Amino acid sequence: MSSTSRSKVIFCDFDGTITVNDNIVAIIKHFNPDGWEAIVEDIVSERKSIREGVGELFRLLPASRRKEVVEFAINNAQIREGFDELLRFCQYQSIDFYVTSGGIDFFVYPLLQPFDIPEDHIFCNGSSFEGSRIEILWPHPCDHECSNECGMCKTTIMRRFPAEHYERILIGDSVTDFEGAKIADIVFARSHLIDKCRELGVSYTPFETFHDVIDELEEIV
Ligand SMILES: [Mg+2]
Ligand SMILES: [Zn+2]
Repeated sequence: MSSTSRSKVIFCDFDGTITVNDNIVAIIKHFNPDGWEAIVEDIVSERKSIREGVGELFRLLPASRRKEVVEFAINNAQIREGFDELLRFCQYQSIDFYVTSGGIDFFVYPLLQPFDIPEDHIFCNGSSFEGSRIEILWPHPCDHECSNECGMCKTTIMRRFPAEHYERILIGDSVTDFEGAKIADIVFARSHLIDKCRELGVSYTPFETFHDVIDELEEIV
């Protein structure tokens, strides 16, 4: 089916994509609880599922440090250049834009607050500070077609936009994007996702800023 007959929809990662750095890694590195490096290594090398690993990472942090953790995450993050312009481009071109994030609500929503993105277009994980440790909650788990234990399952969201009707565009950087890249029509990749696309034989467009993404999209809209 030609691309012009389908509407375009973008699924954009948050950590390391919309933000310059990975916020989960930045938080854990900053608070530096014993044992975090091995867990991060296990997640990135896919020895541990994202859900299991991210849950374990935050359980290393006491819930009593909520304020510090939230403030650090928000103050430390930097939005990648061209993000606002990409949103405006999508609006102008009637391209649906979804944030599909393996990140956590307490930094994803505040950091996206300055941008005009409807809340039902933002998917991320939740959190609880009720117990003694920070507990990650998973309101968007894998459907029966995914056994990857994603935590926030990008392919589950993407399957709501069937390939017959939608041209599915994924923008991402790392392990939370690996599964989505396999089913997307177009992949914009940086960092670990580039290596993964090469390994899988998935074609991709590299990007550094969202201006690169806009330049490429202008060619195909
Ligand atoms: Mg990421
Ligand atoms: Zn999944």
